[in-house]
Amino acid sequence: MKIAFIAHDGKKADLVNFAKAYESILSKHELYSTGTTGTRIMEQTKLQLHRFKSGPLGGDQEIGALIAKNLMDIVIFFRDPLTPQPHEPDILALLRLCDVYSIPLATNMGTAEILIHGLERGDLNWRTLIHEKENENK
Ligand code: PGA
Repeated sequence: MKIAFIAHDGKKADLVNFAKAYESILSKHELYSTGTTGTRIMEQTKLQLHRFKSGPLGGDQEIGALIAKNLMDIVIFFRDPLTPQPHEPDILALLRLCDVYSIPLATNMGTAEILIHGLERGDLNWRTLIHEKENENK
């Protein structure tokens, strides 16, 4: 599965802790992130991520583009609800696209835990079926 990670500055430590806690599960998947979030995760785990630009510089939009092509399977986006973000429109656009394409999205630790356990249990295997169907139609 392709999993995207994004965390606002106030939430980066939480996301790094999440990645550490679930490193063995996450290592079996293809990981993507915005710039600084990915750097922080790679510094503190053995995980390898494909890093896009920093969020405020277009990283959210790059991830959004993959969602629009139905190429992203899970988004884990730890938003900071207490701090205004200069790229609020990009954030809303990304969340909106997750809803347009029914992409599983966690915006906090509580939901991210459930998502990762569901992933490990196979609850998200329907995403694989979608990719197979798309390939058949090509
Ligand atoms: P960053 O971007 O990972 O480069 O900090 C995330 C954001 O703030 O949107």
